[in-house]
Amino acid sequence: MQKSHITYLDNSGFALETGERFFVFDYYNNHPAGGRLGLAGGVIDPAEIAGKNVFVFVSHAHYDHYNKVIFQWERQIKNIHYILSDDIPPRHGALIATPGQSYELDGMRIDVLRSTDEGAAFLIDAGGQVIYHAGDLNWWHWEGEDPRWNADMAAAYQKEIHRLKDVAIDIAFVPVDPRLGDNLLLGVDHLMRTADVRLAVPMHYSANQKAVANAIATAPQTGPYRSRIVPPLRRGQSITV
Ligand SMILES: [Zn+2]
Repeated sequence: MQKSHITYLDNSGFALETGERFFVFDYYNNHPAGGRLGLAGGVIDPAEIAGKNVFVFVSHAHYDHYNKVIFQWERQIKNIHYILSDDIPPRHGALIATPGQSYELDGMRIDVLRSTDEGAAFLIDAGGQVIYHAGDLNWWHWEGEDPRWNADMAAAYQKEIHRLKDVAIDIAFVPVDPRLGDNLLLGVDHLMRTADVRLAVPMHYSANQKAVANAIATAPQTGPYRSRIVPPLRRGQSITV
């Protein structure tokens, strides 16, 4: 199995280096953490990755998933590709990804799922490594919300995740949002029981790692797959899997 190197950037932002490719997902925070430069500070410094084959994915246009600074990177990175959800203004040379569609890019297959919030989620078969980035595709069950709204949400999420039934996914980036209170694990739990996920990486928890780590460690339903969820990371923190 190919080794992959994952760095947490912020919110749903990650850098992932695997094989000959370097992926960036949902980049938004361009301010380095703790005065550290580049990846160690949770930011992309294009000079640091200038020689790599770079793929930049944007799941939707919300400010905490998208920063136009990504388009400046192409001045320094010769091999850079943009894969943008279709709610982002189109851009010359970028692949515009529409939910429900599939694309071939540089020997990869990219299936685009429809988010239950805005935009898209991505299933990427990079040949040797299958990667899922959920964007804001999640089971957003809010306490106090209209029960019909919550029921529609449940149905929409389950329908979309059904597309991943028994799909072998090496690395899945999934929202686990503490603002959902006791419902924060609904989305990841359903994914883990539907797809065949080797490793899940929580995201979308802002700085509230503790609540996420606690929930994963103690909720009884995580028992069967707990060991396959990575603890929430700090900005700039990297793991090799
Ligand atoms: Zn979001």
